Amino acid sequence: MINVVIFGAPGSGKGTQSQLLIKKYGLTHVSTGDILRAEIKAGTELGKLADSYMSKGHLLPDEVVIEILDELIRRHSDAKGFIFDGFPRTLAQGAELDKMLSGNDTQISLVISLEVSDAELIDRLLKRGQISGRSDDNRETIESRLKVYYSQTSPLKEFYAKQGKLKIIEGVGTVEDIFKSIEKELDKEF
Ligand code: ADP
Repeated sequence: MINVVIFGAPGSGKGTQSQLLIKKYGLTHVSTGDILRAEIKAGTELGKLADSYMSKGHLLPDEVVIEILDELIRRHSDAKGFIFDGFPRTLAQGAELDKMLSGNDTQISLVISLEVSDAELIDRLLKRGQISGRSDDNRETIESRLKVYYSQTSPLKEFYAKQGKLKIIEGVGTVEDIFKSIEKELDKEF
């Protein structure tokens, strides 16, 4: 299995690049944000809980997302590999993901970190908010998400760098050029 974590701040292009990765490498896309948004839309209890955190730009409790991931990895045990998009988002989630994967005799192959400046991130998210109407793409929530990213999520870079898995990719430029840089890293794994 080839398992890739696509990592980066909100608005760094994780979802966009994931779509291209799925097409080229046939990996199974796991986006916790998409899963949670689907639950909100369906009006489930989990959706209600998720909405109370997401609308403020806060993270859901680790136990909740870890349980979702655990179930998903088990259900797709025959996958060629996974692209984890938006997970892990805390060191605790990172440690759990390692455990879940080793329980399935596999591991993270590499972590692609998309680097984009804050000014550009805010600009992209505000624009996305106007088009997609995503309720968390407003200025106040964006600021909170960025704070959360730097305090809780970015320490994972060090965690993966220590494992020798972190690849830093410049996340500014055309979608195609950024994908080319990612491909270069991934083709070494296939
Ligand atoms: P973005 O990367 O643009 O913030 P996502 O769709 O990945 O978008 O996440 C949207 C929101 O969903 C987050 O702000 C958070 O509230 C929630 N969420 C997604 N993934 C996780 C996770 N792994 N742990 C906790 N909360 C999460």
